[in-house]
Amino acid sequence: MNVDEFISLGVQNEAKGSLLVKRFVLGDALESMRIVDKHGIRAALKCVGHFYNLIPSEVKGKKRSEALLLLLQDDSQPDNYICMTKDTRDNLRVRLGDTVKVYPCESVKLIQELAMFPIQDTIEGIQVLTREEVDKDFGGIGYDDIGGCRKQLAQIMELVQLPLRFPALYENLGVKPPKGILLYGPPGTGKTMLARAIANETGAFLLVINGPELMSKMQGETESNLRNAFEEAEKNAPSIVFIDELDSIAPKRDKSHGEVEKRTVSQLLTLMDGMKSRNNVIVIGATNRPNSIDQALRRFGRFDRELEMGVPDKVGRLEILNIHTKNMRLANDVDLEKVASETHGCVGADIASLCTDAALQQIREKLPQIDLDSDKIDASVLASLEVTKDNFDWAIKN
Ligand code: ADP
Repeated sequence: MNVDEFISLGVQNEAKGSLLVKRFVLGDALESMRIVDKHGIRAALKCVGHFYNLIPSEVKGKKRSEALLLLLQDDSQPDNYICMTKDTRDNLRVRLGDTVKVYPCESVKLIQELAMFPIQDTIEGIQVLTREEVDKDFGGIGYDDIGGCRKQLAQIMELVQLPLRFPALYENLGVKPPKGILLYGPPGTGKTMLARAIANETGAFLLVINGPELMSKMQGETESNLRNAFEEAEKNAPSIVFIDELDSIAPKRDKSHGEVEKRTVSQLLTLMDGMKSRNNVIVIGATNRPNSIDQALRRFGRFDRELEMGVPDKVGRLEILNIHTKNMRLANDVDLEKVASETHGCVGADIASLCTDAALQQIREKLPQIDLDSDKIDASVLASLEVTKDNFDWAIKN
C-alpha cells in the first residue's frame, strides 16, 4: 500500500463527539509522518465516494493517544507529510511539526448509515473521554516538554516504559524488571516533571508521595499511609509510585534520631521487597542528596538504578529555552542560542522563570499605552506585544 502522501480527514466541526480509543490492537506502523498545517484539507464527507484510495487508518500520536481517521492521498503534499485539522491534532495531542505513526486499520467496515448517540462509557476495553477530559489532559506533560535530558530519557525508556508496557519482554527472558529508580540532582532539574511525563506517556497510574508532607502528618500514621499508597498503586497497575524528597522519608538509619524515621525506612523496605515484579508497579524516588539515603534502600531489588538529573549544559539550556518559549511571541531580535550561552549554571526551573520574567517585562513596557480604566485593551497594543532581546537581557540581569 502506498502511503507516501495523505490527508487525514477529521469530520470537521464534529469534534465534540469524537472518540479517543485507547488500547487498540495495532498492526505494524506503515509510516512515520510529520504534521504540517491544515492547508489543503478538503471537506471529508464530500470526498467520501469520490476517492477510491480512501483508507481507514489509525493514527498514533503522543501519550498513547490514537484516532481512527480516513486518509486520502493528495499529490500536492510533499513526501512523508500529513495534514490534519486542529481538532484532530488536539485529539491526538500533537502539535505542528510533530511526527505521528499511521497504521492500517482494515477491520473497519464501510459505513452505509450512521446514527449518533450520547456517549456511554460501558463498552469493555474502550475508554471514552469527553471533550473536557481531553482538554484537561492535553496540558499534561510529555517527554518533549523536558529539555536537556536525552540520555536520561533513553534510559527511562529501558528502565520504566518497556517494563510497564510490555512486562512479557522480561518475563519471557526470565529476568525481573527494575522495581525502583532513584532520580538525583539539584532542585529544579525536572525530576518531578520526568515522573509526570512517564506516567502520561505510558498511560500508567501515578501516585505522588511528598516525603516531608508524609513525615509531618500525624505520628503513627506515616507507615500506614505508605502501605495504603502501595496498595492503591497495585490496585491501579500499571502504576508509578513517585516519592519526592526520598531523603526525608529514608535518611540513613544510624544518623536519624527519630523512631518514626527508622520505622518508615523499614516499612518502605518491606513494601519494596514485597512487591512482585509482575504487579507492574515501579517506584521512582527523587532526591537532591543521594548520599544521605539509607544504604539498604539502594541495594539490589530496591532503588537499584540511579539516574542523574544534572545541571544542563548549553545545548540542554537551549532545548529548555525552546520548550518554554514555544507558545511565546518572540521578537526577531531574540537569539535563544545567545540566551543559552549567557545562562551558565541555570537549571530548568531557572530558565522557566527567566522566560516568564522576560514576558512580564514586555507587559510592563506596554503598560503606559494601556488605558487601565477601560475594559478592553487596544487591538494595536495587543498586536504589538512581543518578547524582545532587551526583555531577555533584563530578565538575565535581574
Ligand atoms: P525537581 O523535581 O527536579 O525539583 P521540577 O520537575 O519540579 O524539578 O521542575 C520545576 C519546573 O521547572 C518545571 O515545572 C518546569 O517548568 C521547569 N523545568 C525543570 N527542569 C526542566 C527541564 N529539564 N526541561 C524543561 N523544563 C524544566
